[in-house]
Amino acid sequence: MARTPAKTPGDTKLGPNTILATAGRHPFEYHGFVNPPVYHGSTVLYPTADDLFAHRSRYSYGRRGTPTTEALSDAITTLEGGAGTVLVPSGLAAITTAILSVAGAGDHILVIDSTYAPTRHFCDTTLKRLGVETTYYAAGEDFSALFRENTRAVFTESPGSLTFEMQDIPALAELAHKRGAAVLMDNTWATPLLFAAHAHGVDLSIQAGTKYFSGHSDVMMGSVSANADYWPRLRDTHGNLGLCAGPDDINLVLRGLRTLGVRLERHQKSGLEIAHWLEERPEVAAVLHPALESHPSHALWKRDFRGACGLFSIVLKPVSEAAVRAFLDALSLFGMGYSWGGYESLIIPFDARPLRTASTWAPEGPALRLHIGLEDVEDLRADLDRGFAALRAADDGIASPK
Ligand SMILES: *Cc1c(COP(=O)(O)O)cnc(C)c1O
Repeated sequence: MARTPAKTPGDTKLGPNTILATAGRHPFEYHGFVNPPVYHGSTVLYPTADDLFAHRSRYSYGRRGTPTTEALSDAITTLEGGAGTVLVPSGLAAITTAILSVAGAGDHILVIDSTYAPTRHFCDTTLKRLGVETTYYAAGEDFSALFRENTRAVFTESPGSLTFEMQDIPALAELAHKRGAAVLMDNTWATPLLFAAHAHGVDLSIQAGTKYFSGHSDVMMGSVSANADYWPRLRDTHGNLGLCAGPDDINLVLRGLRTLGVRLERHQKSGLEIAHWLEERPEVAAVLHPALESHPSHALWKRDFRGACGLFSIVLKPVSEAAVRAFLDALSLFGMGYSWGGYESLIIPFDARPLRTASTWAPEGPALRLHIGLEDVEDLRADLDRGFAALRAADDGIASPK
């Protein structure tokens, strides 16, 4: 099946929202319908023995790709400005696939101390068992002395999970490349819309598609986009691991992707309104949001990022754990649960202390991570207001400095 030319732009000079609306679609390959059909398939038939012997077919087997997987991976490649994209069944699988495509027995990797907790767990267990050593580095630290002869990759995340430290990605990439190491970045917070990872020196750009790409809390998905240097080994590793994402899940993510731009604008706007309001609350000691001027590396965010999403954290003034529980239980619009990036607001308490080995996390009081969804801001503020009233009523005045 020949691809209809020119209707869909591979032209990355188009604006990001135009790319979102057009990428990965070829309507006249499917009778003019706007969206690609969802192919469920394993076996691909060859019309003649000649075709079979010559492997003359655009597709060979379901695991190796279908028109459905191509629709989403092409869209992500266009959005990321990379050379190719693989799809995997979760964000964590995207992380492990990216790392396994650059490191093997006898190698060493550097990982940001504030990385997503399951990434750290993978490095400390499975990766270690496979003979790859991990050293954690702190955000803002000069970590050039941590490179070794066998350092193959720097794995980074900016802002960091839970605690939102920013990093100078172009400087990090320059250093890593000088030492012959690949730069891997979990770019889930910003998405390719708000931070152009490849353009800032990242070789493998990772997305938990479960979050904003899908946007509806109804699917698990991950993607890794590679630049030309790293695309062959990423594609090969992905194939060897036998990873493939399900067609209905891919269709949900492709559907979510079309509205990513408008959703992120709203998440950013509402998120900042709530963040500014929280900064003024007497119960709050600090708001950890890179787009706030009070953030210690706000300048880096401003220089490199095109915006912010709806995810940030707060540190409360010291209060008892009972008061934190009362606060959480008084909320009705903020759901308590893991993950984020859907249309709904979420909140979780966290303690990052056991998750840091190269830096110290010593907050003044209990910490909470918030995801600001697409609800009306006044309603979210009123919900938090009720929470703070319950917190004050429950606080016995004796802070529990854990
Ligand atoms: C959620 C998340 C992941 C993992 O995604 P899953 O689809 O849940 O496996 C990876 N990185 C970050 C920063 C995340 O927030």
